[in-house]
Amino acid sequence: MNILMYDTKKYDKDSFDAIKDQYPDLNIDYVKTDLSERTARLANGYEAICAFVSSDVSGPVIRALNEAGVKLILMRCAGFNNVDLRAAEECGIAVMRVPGYSPEAVAEHAMALAMAANRKLHKSYIKVRENNFSLVGLTGMNFHGKTAGIIGTGKIGAAMARICQGFGMRVIAYDMYRNPDLDFVTYVDMEELLSESDLISLHCPLTDDTYHLINEKTIAKMKDHVILVNTSRGALIKTDDLIAGIRSRKFFGVGLDVYEEETPNVFENREDDILETSVTARLLSFPNVIVTSHQGFLTEEALEAISRTTLDNASDFENGSVNKGNIVK
Ligand code: NAD
Repeated sequence: MNILMYDTKKYDKDSFDAIKDQYPDLNIDYVKTDLSERTARLANGYEAICAFVSSDVSGPVIRALNEAGVKLILMRCAGFNNVDLRAAEECGIAVMRVPGYSPEAVAEHAMALAMAANRKLHKSYIKVRENNFSLVGLTGMNFHGKTAGIIGTGKIGAAMARICQGFGMRVIAYDMYRNPDLDFVTYVDMEELLSESDLISLHCPLTDDTYHLINEKTIAKMKDHVILVNTSRGALIKTDDLIAGIRSRKFFGVGLDVYEEETPNVFENREDDILETSVTARLLSFPNVIVTSHQGFLTEEALEAISRTTLDNASDFENGSVNKGNIVK
């Protein structure tokens, strides 16, 4: 099987090259360009393409891939809200993904953001580099003894709950389904989670129900001086309402690995660009906000797991023995 990998970064190529000899029936070619209707034509002669969470896998792109003869879309990520599944089905193109590669990678990054926002590491790093050893403005709070509220206790939320427990926090959670492994977690309704938590961390997927879950109304129900962390999907938070909440001093800190309108920024070096929207700039203008660029997944262990499952998916598809859990419908 010939696979064309779009939007290839150095760390993608390194992790796939490290294991591809173990899959002699698969040939991978890498291109830096990301998927679009125009670049879909590059897939002529390839049975499969490999795309990422930020790729455009919309209906028109899928139809262009179909014309190029593609039979399989390999998503090298867990999320697939960027894939038009109906168009894929109409074109008879299978979509496979990597359902869980390293929940700890994302959960540890969520706690890193919470800690950085709490102890103002982003500020102190810059200050000390400028020979400013003043501590003014750097006061944090102990997490020990505080309440962590986890929204969504699937794989990543469960890992975050365990980390918070390790910090000596009381852990409460909201999910429609209780995770039986989390016997130390108290499940509460959303109202209670919002009003009780000192740290709120979002780990539910983006769906019609969760779109703008964090908005003016839900922010108003939060405790004053809460820390909010989002490593899930940007559109869980209505950014304008978050900015209004930050301006009204609601938040002790905010840590975002994902945010609305991140797509043109994600994984790109845009240091010479004038950004076309002000969301990123506005968020970065606040001293208690730290933003990273969708890097929660980026650990050696997660990259290894992503490349292995992606190539297993391609092999299984070719051998007609697909792991149903990895097929997206
Ligand atoms: P998962 O499917 O294991 O868990 C999601 C949980 O959310 C489930 O328990 C589900 O019941 C719950 N849920 C669904 N709707 C909900 C709602 N309305 N309210 C509360 N809970 C709800 O998924 P996961 O592997 O833990 O991943 C969670 C999310 O993390 C993904 O959807 C993805 O958006 C994000 N993610 C981010 C990165 C990153 O690099 N930042 C990497 C991987 C995944």
